[in-house]
Amino acid sequence: MTAIGFVGLGIMGAPMAGHLVKAGHAVTGYDLVDAAVERLAAQGGRAAESLAEAVTGAEVVITMLPADPHVRSVVLEEGGVLTHAAPGTLLIDMSSVTPGIALEIAAAAAPLDVRVLDAPVSGGEAGAVEAALSIMVGGEAADFAAARPLLDRLGSTVVHVGPTGAGQTVKAANQLIVAVHLQALAEAVVFLRRAGVDLGSALDVLGGGLAGSTVLARKRAAMEHHDFRPGFRIDLHHKDMGIVTEAARALGVPLPLGALAAQLVASARANGDGGLDHAALLRGVERLAGG
Ligand code: NAD
Repeated sequence: MTAIGFVGLGIMGAPMAGHLVKAGHAVTGYDLVDAAVERLAAQGGRAAESLAEAVTGAEVVITMLPADPHVRSVVLEEGGVLTHAAPGTLLIDMSSVTPGIALEIAAAAAPLDVRVLDAPVSGGEAGAVEAALSIMVGGEAADFAAARPLLDRLGSTVVHVGPTGAGQTVKAANQLIVAVHLQALAEAVVFLRRAGVDLGSALDVLGGGLAGSTVLARKRAAMEHHDFRPGFRIDLHHKDMGIVTEAARALGVPLPLGALAAQLVASARANGDGGLDHAALLRGVERLAGG
């Protein structure tokens, strides 16, 4: 049994923390939203009233927060995780943030003898609920080995991809691929509907051929039924397109499709769809096609 502090019990963090409770670990959860903490307590976790309470005494601290500013504030600022973590603690940041944040955390943690992994995930809410996430991990091999038994409880594909920051770099590539796929799927859906073809049959047969993909399998229902409850919010995908675009720019790597996809995600937000699931990229294609 490991004493785990889990910070960020949202769409992803809640089921992930729940799996660790079920695996028999002592999980103390903290979130700004009281109801989220209470839900974890109802599943057998412990409710922390403060960040300090979640971190103090934890052997492993896991963070699952929206974006860079949240991770910076929760981990790096005075009174944050690094203020309260004991030497030897393993901090696993599973949020999707810039590789630069992972490097900043590692630099601040090293003198405190706090070990750090960046371990963002792919697979969406369904992947979190089913403990079938793909987890891409950056950091020291020994720390990865120590974290592996916990990560295996959350994901079905858990891979050490390189040193600190490498996990976030791979996640940025993931988000580029997903955005372009989603946009292509949305365009195909609008095209097929306009052509008068039965959409369900069309997606069935497309899913069995080379056009088949996890994006198609997981997102077709949302597009077929116009059910855009999140899931993965367009606001978060916008953040991720910023991360991949900026990282590629710094490397001098052009991302022509990525740049276009980023603009389409930005347009979705500008049209008020930021709080919807990213399958709502369909709405942008419909707007372009005149409804
Ligand atoms: P979410 O907004 O549902 O959850 C984030 C949680 O963090 C919220 O409950 C919020 O109250 C909490 N929080 C924010 N600031 C805090 C603070 N200072 N202290 C304590 N708690 C705080 O987001 P999510 O969908 O669970 O995503 C979390 C991360 O995982 C993001 O980086 C996202 O990009 C990534 N991700 C999401 C999905 C998905 O399908 N939702 C899939 C893969 C990766």
